[in-house]
Amino acid sequence: MQEIKPPTSPAEKGSIEERAAKPIDLLTSSAERELEKEPSAARQGAMLGPIKVVHAYWLAGMSCDGCSVAATGATSPSVEDLLLGRLPGVPRLVLHHPVLSVEAGEAFMKNYELAAEGKLNAPYVVIYEGSVADEALAEASGGYWSAMGVGSDEKMVPTATWLRRMAPGAAAVIAIGTCATWGGIPSAYGNPTGAMSVMDFLGKDYRSALGVPVVNIPGCSPVGDNFTETVAAVLLFLNGLGPLPEFDGLGRPAWLFNETVHRRCVRAGYYEEGVFAHEYGDRECLVEIGCWGPVVQCNITSRGAINHMGGCMNTGGICIGCTMPGFPDKFSPFYKRAPGSLLSTSASKTVGSFIRPLRRMTMQFQNRETSWDKKQSVPSGWGNVSEPGLLQKSIHFFYDKLQFLNAERPGRTKPYEEYRGGYEVPAVRAGISESPQKEREQKEEHKNDE
Ligand code: SF4
Repeated sequence: MQEIKPPTSPAEKGSIEERAAKPIDLLTSSAERELEKEPSAARQGAMLGPIKVVHAYWLAGMSCDGCSVAATGATSPSVEDLLLGRLPGVPRLVLHHPVLSVEAGEAFMKNYELAAEGKLNAPYVVIYEGSVADEALAEASGGYWSAMGVGSDEKMVPTATWLRRMAPGAAAVIAIGTCATWGGIPSAYGNPTGAMSVMDFLGKDYRSALGVPVVNIPGCSPVGDNFTETVAAVLLFLNGLGPLPEFDGLGRPAWLFNETVHRRCVRAGYYEEGVFAHEYGDRECLVEIGCWGPVVQCNITSRGAINHMGGCMNTGGICIGCTMPGFPDKFSPFYKRAPGSLLSTSASKTVGSFIRPLRRMTMQFQNRETSWDKKQSVPSGWGNVSEPGLLQKSIHFFYDKLQFLNAERPGRTKPYEEYRGGYEVPAVRAGISESPQKEREQKEEHKNDE
């Protein structure tokens, strides 16, 4: 078996003086610097898999930069993990980002030109944030909607043009955020910019250089971890070290978006028991004040917004469907209850009105030590814990019978298991086993008969 050697840590690569003698010129094009290195398996210190480096080209269309903010907040994995190549088998990412990259101006744009001209020595992915505007509309008046860099004609180059040029050669095109995945807010009713999703822009027949359609990670803003995790999964697959990540019919990572947000909501128990919030700040289910969670595919309640913390309903907000293709028009007016919830909440209120008292009763019995049952009192100094009434005891009697039907009660119920000193076990107390004393007498009698 091939021995896997971890890469040499920077600290082992020479003294500070030696390393300082060759400073990296961070203001030159990072893609050009990569061209001077060996990106293949032969690269010194490289770990696992044939692909060592993958370039990530970030393009921003009609966006608010919220997706960039979300991605930089990711923790599992973090952007730093990807940039440092810290995940075994996941190629190191060289990120070219209009806000986060250190280089600027021509040196920065050189990165994009090299990719568009097919002059890189490593694969690349394109990440598009924001919706793609119809630049023909802006061009008619001599302007542009979203652009980056200046072309040979001295005009700004729309990011839509960069996308058109770079998409065919990319290993994958990843749309991040609802604007890029489904058009989002810029494409809402009215849509003066002709905004559309990356999928709409590239068309149904688009396939990347590796045959992958557009990968969609929706959310406004998306959960950063959903993005970095998908990128890591795709890179692991490209490196031949992971399975093909499963995507649904709309190009969403299936393992992240195949459940409704409602199923993992911290308030779902209230919905099931038919208890609903009347105003913001209430702790119950928010469906009657406008939550669309039961029909929205999203994982924010289980994953949290950042570092497993926060997330809409966890922090008291309703779900307005921001991960869905119909957002925002089909989920408006916001903060008005969805008509479909009338039927389901009426049903859960009816069922809940029976279930809640029964659960409360069982909870009352389970809130007692077995010895308290025997003494018929609770020695709590915190308050008077009332004893169950006759009706509750009768109901619980049958509940208890059902609970242990065809099952053993806890405790030492057999004579040979009994406690020393004839300690009374629960089964004896419940009358389904003889007392130890009686068992002993029976054993003696049996012996004498023999
Ligand atoms: Fe479902 Fe929304 Fe209620 Fe949570 S708050 S249980 S997502 S309806």
